[in-house]
Formats: sequence, C-alpha cells, structure tokens
Amino acid sequence: MNKIIITGGLGFIGSNLTKKLLENNKVLVIDKMTYAANNSNLSKFNNNPNFFFEKKDVSNFKKINNIIKDFKPDKIFHLAAESHVDRSIDNADEFIKTNILGTYSLLEAVLEYRKSFEKKELIFHHVSTDEVFGDVKDRGKINDLSESDSFTENSKYFPSSPYSASKASSDHLVSAWGRTYDLPYVISNCSNNYGPFQAKEKFIPYVISSAVEGKKISIYGDGNQIRDWIYVTDHIDAIIKLSESGAKGFFNIGGDCQIRNIDLAKKILKKLDIIFPQKKKNSSYLDLISYVDDRPGHDVKYAIDNTKIINSTNWRPSISLDEGLELTIDWYLKKN
Ligand code: NAD
Repeated sequence: MNKIIITGGLGFIGSNLTKKLLENNKVLVIDKMTYAANNSNLSKFNNNPNFFFEKKDVSNFKKINNIIKDFKPDKIFHLAAESHVDRSIDNADEFIKTNILGTYSLLEAVLEYRKSFEKKELIFHHVSTDEVFGDVKDRGKINDLSESDSFTENSKYFPSSPYSASKASSDHLVSAWGRTYDLPYVISNCSNNYGPFQAKEKFIPYVISSAVEGKKISIYGDGNQIRDWIYVTDHIDAIIKLSESGAKGFFNIGGDCQIRNIDLAKKILKKLDIIFPQKKKNSSYLDLISYVDDRPGHDVKYAIDNTKIINSTNWRPSISLDEGLELTIDWYLKKN
C-alpha cells in the first residue's frame, strides 16, 4: 500500500482523485478549505483508517514540512490552487500566493523531506491546465473544430489570464526544481473538467443550476469560444495511469471533445428539457440564455493533442460528452 499526499483534496478534482486512490492506498489530504472546498466531498471517509486530513495552507512551509516528514509519502499529487479565471481577473492576490508561492513552498518542503529520508524516488505530480498555452496559435481557426492545431507538450506557454499565468509560473517552478534538484516530477496539463462535486461557479454546473433555479444563463461574447471537455474520472484515470507507468515530464490530457461554449450550453439545456421539464407547458430552458460582454482576455480556442500520453500509457478518454453530461445533470439534480 503506497502512502500518498493530495493537496487540494477537498476540491472538485482532488476529491475525485482521493476517492479513487483510497481504494488501495493510504491517503493524506492537505487542504486550506477555501470557499472552493467542500467538506461533504470526502465526509464518508472520516472513519476510514487509510484516510487522513490536515487543514493547512500549502504555503506554510514549516507545517507542511512537518506533515510530510511524519507521513513519509511515496507520492505527492499537487492540486491545491485558486482555480477560477473570473475571480483571478477581479483580484489576483490569492492566485499569486497559492499557485506560485504555495507551489514554491511545497517544493521546498519536499526537497527537505527527500534530503532527510533519502526518498530519492518520490514523484511530485503537479496537476495543471491547458490554459497555460493561451489561444491555439491561429486565431483565424476559431470555427475550426479539427484537432490539427492542438496543443502538444512542445507548444509555447502563452497564458492570457492571471489564473493561467499563475499556473504557468507554477509549472516552471516544478520543472526547474526537477532539473536543478533532481526531483522526479510529472506535470499534466489538462483541459476543462466536468462531473460531480464541481463548484457551481464553473461553466457546466453554472448552466445546470441556473436553469433549474429559473435564472438567466449568461454567455460571454458570442459564445463561440471552443474548449475541450473531459469527464473528471477520465482525468483521474489519466493521472493514475501516468503514476503507475512511472512516466516523468510533461503530459497533455484532453477529452478529445471540442465544442463551442454556446453549443455546450444548448446541449445541456435541451437535455434538461427532457430530464427535468419545466412546469409551464411548451417552455424551454433555452429561453434563459442571455449574451453578455465578453470576458477580458478571453481565449478563443483550446485543443489538446493526446498522442504522448496515449503512447506512454495506453490511456484514452472513455466517457462521451453526452454520457458525461447526463451523469453530471443527474448528480446535480439529486443534490439539489
Ligand atoms: P477547486 O477550486 O475545485 O479546488 C481547489 C482546492 O484547493 C480547494 O479544496 C481549496 O480549498 C484548496 N486550496 C486552495 N488554496 C489552498 C492553499 N493555499 N492551501 C491548501 N489548499 C488550498 O479546483 P479543481 O477544479 O479541483 O482543480 C484542481 C487542480 O486542477 C488545480 O490546480 C487546477 O488548476 C487544475 N485543473 C483544473 C481543471 C478544471 O477544469 N477544473 C482543469 C485542468 C487543471
């Protein structure tokens, strides 16, 4: 049984990863419990003897160092972050503190631990985003849903928002610490996740919850921005396959599923019309859509090339967008 530390384990992706890894590992979650954390995400494990929890800020070197030395992990998955682009545009302070300084502090704590315990084989897996690449190179391809211009592991970093810039910085710290201090690392840059336990402010839960509550659904600009979507358990499988394969370095992870924001919103709303029809006859949730001013610096298109991870681990996304959306809608309806 491996001993694993997950930072940000009370968040959306972290809680899904914790659940999966608890099937055959001891897992210690470190989480500051910001507004994005949800205690109930992991409450069913409170009495599980293999589950441990520390409410701590990853930036607190001393405390984190002690926790790591006591627990003696074999692997660390770093997911703790401020993760919402709109919030980063309003105020980037916490993004700089947690995503950059927090990652620096955590790396230093890990180096200390490796020195004291000769844990040379410990792997630091940094979970990052495709947003570090900014727009696909050719803005003229906005309406092109082909994957020919997708991000590879060799694409240039070109972050557009304070959030993506802070994640890009943290990626650079991890790879530099890896090279300079010989720390084995994985950096996985994944596209937009969706599924159970995601906070309501993110696009898919926002569309579902606004519709169910009868509120207007704001779509930025013309809604033509293209994103790649991945169901969260496919992302978790990719992280675990990378970990089990002993792979190191940079890996892109995507759902092979590009869609325009407006088409995605419509798809969800049409599903809700069938699964959860409104009381008023002949009404459609589509009527709630409202276009608003575009987000400043809004990237037009992201797209991921999965070739490297497929060749290295045989992983492939397995849940289609229709299936994933139905699972997600079902989860949110049961929760509300
Ligand atoms: P989330 O916002 O749902 O959860 C983040 C968690 O980190 C929360 O539980 C929060 O309390 C914790 N946290 C924040 N600051 C902390 C600090 N200083 N110390 C300790 N804990 C802290 O985020 P998520 O969507 O689950 O994303 C997890 C990671 O995956 C992030 O690093 C994010 O950049 C990355 N990522 C997310 C997506 C996505 O679509 N959600 C896609 C690619 C990569």
